[in-house]
Amino acid sequence: MKKHNFSAGPCILPQEVFQEASQAILDFNNSGLSILEISHRSPDFVAVMEEARSLALELLGLQNKGYKALFLQGGASTQFLMVAYNLINKKAAYLNTGTWSSKAIKEAKFFGDVIEVASSKDKNFNYIPKSYSLPEDADYFHCTSNNTIFGTQMKSFPATSRPLVCDMSSDIFSRELDFSKFDLIYAGAQKNMGPAGTTLVIVKEEILGKVSREIPSMMNYQTHIDKDSMFNTPAVYAVYVSMLTLRWIKSKGGLKAMEKLNHQKAELLYAEIDRNPLFKGFAEKEDRSPMNATFNLVNEAHKEVFDKMWKSAGVNGLNGHRSVGGYRASMYNALPLESVQVVVDLMKELEEKV
Ligand SMILES: *Cc1c(COP(=O)(O)O)cnc(C)c1O
Repeated sequence: MKKHNFSAGPCILPQEVFQEASQAILDFNNSGLSILEISHRSPDFVAVMEEARSLALELLGLQNKGYKALFLQGGASTQFLMVAYNLINKKAAYLNTGTWSSKAIKEAKFFGDVIEVASSKDKNFNYIPKSYSLPEDADYFHCTSNNTIFGTQMKSFPATSRPLVCDMSSDIFSRELDFSKFDLIYAGAQKNMGPAGTTLVIVKEEILGKVSREIPSMMNYQTHIDKDSMFNTPAVYAVYVSMLTLRWIKSKGGLKAMEKLNHQKAELLYAEIDRNPLFKGFAEKEDRSPMNATFNLVNEAHKEVFDKMWKSAGVNGLNGHRSVGGYRASMYNALPLESVQVVVDLMKELEEKV
């Protein structure tokens, strides 16, 4: 049976990527060797790493603008501390829009003072705070562009003279933005870019080297820049599959095309959430995420029936995160429009049934 995978991450990737990635396990580049058994220093893999780094910058429009792309390990969660390790002298400003922002704040506090400029915790993070001021003496401002758990997304970013740092784990490569506004972007691969195991970091080199503390080699962005993201053994396979996904994005028309399809999917689902009297959306309308749609049943008594319906229709991963409950439909780049139509039809069917 055809599956419709709404998993929040790790998540759906393009079928073409799965095909090519599985072939590379058996025979990579007609070398007679598996990608899993070759040296990360072999020319074949060095070429993969270089292409992945360069495609990441190209798709974001950041080539030749002083940025470096790195594929590191330890997940976005390691970036929570690595950002602060490399960038805080005294204090940093953070916008708290959910679980991931809160975790980033917690880690930054190991390295300096954290000013929480605003938080949406008062309403269980169902909105993005808009009016706040940024301290001009902060070492940087950190925000989370898309809140995977609560289903909110920042549609705009504050103007600041301070370095702008953003956790884009769950919406990187999903929409067009002026990425040159950002000084450091990081994203765990497993939400919209590839398999778990590698984390993309895009950093403007000029913001580095400004802190007085000593930084251990593995925690120092400069180490990884100097070694072309090969200071130690990278996550070879995860980087390879990410590269295939970046190629796929480019071949489909880049971020413009991704944004168009993501918009269509989100419109389709949110329209049904708003129309159908059995459901209600969780996030404030203007802050809704096209990547992760969070919604609940108005009457929990329908849960058993609805859960049975979508599970038997081949839908996977629609359960909400425990901090929101209800449902979360993650509609990353590779999810086709028809999968969203399947869920919308099921919601209509439930309405007719009860
Ligand atoms: C999933 C996620 C993280 C954590 O990523 P790991 O790679 O598991 O450390 C951080 N931030 C956001 C926005 C996420 O969606």
